[in-house]
Amino acid sequence: MMSRGLPTVDNLASRSIVLSENDALCVFCKSDIETDYHLFCTCPVVDKVWKVCLSWINCPAPLPRCILDHFNFIPGPFHQSTQAVYWRTVWLVTTWIVWRTRNLCRFKDSSFCFDSMVKEIQVHSWRWLSSFTKSFRYSFSQWCCNPGLCLTR
Ligand SMILES: [Zn+2]
Repeated sequence: MMSRGLPTVDNLASRSIVLSENDALCVFCKSDIETDYHLFCTCPVVDKVWKVCLSWINCPAPLPRCILDHFNFIPGPFHQSTQAVYWRTVWLVTTWIVWRTRNLCRFKDSSFCFDSMVKEIQVHSWRWLSSFTKSFRYSFSQWCCNPGLCLTR
């Protein structure tokens, strides 16, 4: 993603793999050509997903509109390095779920369900945080009840 090598529609076109006009549209909003920039920074559907994650920590801040800035963005409520690690984990999971859902829609003809995507982010964030972060010691029910509290404590 950082090296702009994801096989998005625009990237495939640069390799002479051209899709039909309809297939070139973003699978989430179906209103713009799929680029990595659109998918992760400007797609209104994905932006809504990010806003759910930010609402967990009561952070209404808009996300950066540049992929590198997006990756480096640490929301205001996080002041400790541990909290930044927690946010980066949520960021990675969210990005992975967006890309995975995009692939399922594009290649398996799956339909997109916003609520399922958010639930998957919540489940996988807890799994990754519990498995890879020693200081994260919250039960799944605590995480589901108030992810923001678990992230900012
Ligand atoms: Zn879109």
